Amino acid sequence: MPNVTLMIDDQSVTVSTGTTILKAAQQLGRQIPTICYHEHCTANGLCRICVVEVNGIKPLVPACLTPAREGIKVATSSVRVERSRRTILEMLASAVDLSQAPEIERLMRDTHADRMRFPDAERRAVPLLDDNPMYIRDYSKCILCWRCVQVCADDAQFTYAINFTGRGFETSIGTFFDKPMPETTCVFCGQCVGVCPTGALKPKRESLLEQGLSLDEIMQATRGGKKKRRKSP
Ligand code: SF4
Repeated sequence: MPNVTLMIDDQSVTVSTGTTILKAAQQLGRQIPTICYHEHCTANGLCRICVVEVNGIKPLVPACLTPAREGIKVATSSVRVERSRRTILEMLASAVDLSQAPEIERLMRDTHADRMRFPDAERRAVPLLDDNPMYIRDYSKCILCWRCVQVCADDAQFTYAINFTGRGFETSIGTFFDKPMPETTCVFCGQCVGVCPTGALKPKRESLLEQGLSLDEIMQATRGGKKKRRKSP
């Protein structure tokens, strides 16, 4: 496969054709920040945190999707890039509960994002969904990164139990006809919980532990009764 050579932050790097700018930067040891991107999911460029400047022209492009091209000059932390990332984070913080999203909180600190920049913004306030013994769904913490939908679908499990629903600010992740999870095709593999970056999806037992329940109470709540000891023969 032919190679392309490009400049990233004034450093030259040669990568094979089709490599994304994100991967090319990683080859140089540079970490471009990401949120919706996950190593094992198809990149969709939804969150736009990984935007970079190419040849100094508008618009900024998502590094997770944009292939490296011969001779381009990429700036990963120009003033425009930093301002764009900061604004995205400030908008997220204005609408979503990020209290259990440590990676995003770290990005906010790194970019000096002001979480109170949009004090009058509407917040995502939806009831917590607790409809199965395996995991809870708290979409007030959901940033719509789409990772859970992807692993439930073609990226891993092929069960298609969840997808986007609603429009605009009302967009959320949901099941068909808002069915409770046990009435969907969900097989409770847990992969959606594993890739969720914000705590919107959480194992039920972890949630009950946080609420102060004892291990016995948790056992009863998630298994419907105490585990019986087998009698010795
Ligand atoms: S529930 Fe979690 S993984 Fe799914 S879209 Fe929301 S933040 Fe992303």
